[in-house]
Amino acid sequence: MYSDVRLFIDGEWTGSADGRTIPVLDPATEEVIGTVAHASRVDLDRALAAAEKGFALWRATSAYERSKIMRRAADLMRERVDAIARVMTMEQGKPLAEAKGETLVAADVIEWFAEEARRTYGRVIPARGPGIYQLSVREPVGPVAAFTPWNFPINQVVRKLSAGLAVGCSVIVKAPEETPAAPAELIRAFADAGVPAGVIGLVYGVPAEISEYLIPHPVIRKISFTGSTPVGKQLAALAGLHMKRATMELGGHAPAIVFDDADLDAATKVLAGAKYRNAGQVCVAPTRFLVQDRVYDAFLDKFTAAAQAIKVGNGLEAGTTMGPLANERRVQAMETLVADAVQHGATVRTGGKRIGNKGYFFEPTVLADVPVTARAMNEEPFGPVALFARFGDFDEVVAEANRLPFGLASYAFTRSTRTATALASAIESGMLTINHNGLALPETPFGGVKDSGYGSEGGSEGVEAYLNTKYVTQMGA
Ligand code: NAD
Repeated sequence: MYSDVRLFIDGEWTGSADGRTIPVLDPATEEVIGTVAHASRVDLDRALAAAEKGFALWRATSAYERSKIMRRAADLMRERVDAIARVMTMEQGKPLAEAKGETLVAADVIEWFAEEARRTYGRVIPARGPGIYQLSVREPVGPVAAFTPWNFPINQVVRKLSAGLAVGCSVIVKAPEETPAAPAELIRAFADAGVPAGVIGLVYGVPAEISEYLIPHPVIRKISFTGSTPVGKQLAALAGLHMKRATMELGGHAPAIVFDDADLDAATKVLAGAKYRNAGQVCVAPTRFLVQDRVYDAFLDKFTAAAQAIKVGNGLEAGTTMGPLANERRVQAMETLVADAVQHGATVRTGGKRIGNKGYFFEPTVLADVPVTARAMNEEPFGPVALFARFGDFDEVVAEANRLPFGLASYAFTRSTRTATALASAIESGMLTINHNGLALPETPFGGVKDSGYGSEGGSEGVEAYLNTKYVTQMGA
């Protein structure tokens, strides 16, 4: 059911040159379910040479042809959804329905970028003299190194890979060692669809060793990283040192602001859904629930009831609505952050504990009256913990929402257009969704500001990230 995962280099699935592997665990059982090949320096050099060759070939392929091949890959993802979702749940833990959703969204992402890249128009700039053409031309940036995390094993890869491939880049993916099989299936779909050898590479190993080798390497022209802010800062510094283009999708600490004129039932449904999806291991998950005084108790009650209705279990079992956390590190982080919040005066309204002693299960948790001195109010919890705090007026809540160095997503519920408009201008975040959850569509920008990074992985901005501009002027001879 779960096959050992290999590297993909120059169009071939291969073990590593020195035969090293890393075990893969099922987070619901803690059992070893397979292994993933651990790339050596020899493998990375082969991947780099293939990416250089692949880029020359792929950039010379028309956008029309690239788009056709990519759309075949999207069809294959849809055809294979059941098998792919199963391996994703086994290695990552999320419920099967979420894994299927992620796989189908990946198909949409591929299609959207495949189409959008056919519209990477340049410009003709009016010249100062007769017989002169001045052209602004868009070109692919070159071979890309993409580093992705374990929370969305396919979706973190597909945004980078699709945007890069669509405009003619080759891409070496360093996919997560903890969840390697699902991203390998994505790459298999592209290969089976006809992406030529060398255009896509897939490696695993020690993340720091691979990034320290690939980022400075002259073949690589751009890097894209999704992960934590501290690691992102290190990689951005390395990219800067070697003058490489970079996109950084880093941590968040999203405020979810509920004003006293909000539809509380709608807010509960949307925010509880967003909070506990993927067991809270989502960079755009609502984290600080900032609720206006008059509705604080009522909303807290409704939200707590929604958290208590969640069925935690093995993601492969029917009826499970939240799986285990992806690894032991997250369980320990949740225990530490909850204990610290309680010590600072927060109250546990529901949850707060590990479940059982096998598998990385943690209760959907709601903490009330959490002071800003608690660690969880300052660090990204990245787990199923909702932090509630009250506010009095608009200025107070904006100050709290903008207090942290993060600026990725934010959520708000209000029936006042005036409040919504004022908030849209005051909030310091890359994304704001009001009265519904409209984040992360293929066609809309996705990215942060401040310590949450720079660049975008959706919308036409996501295509821009893989393009250089070349200015050409020509006078008739
Ligand atoms: P981590 O910071 O060690 O790793 C995060 C990701 O970065 C992993 O995929 C890891 O393989 C990769 N990574 C780490 N060091 C790297 C390096 N030097 N070069 C290249 N890649 C590197 O921690 P973790 O325990 O895996 O995750 C913990 C934190 O990471 C979470 O609390 C969360 O803040 C953040 N995270 C964010 C996202 C996201 O979607 N933005 C996803 C996963 C994790």
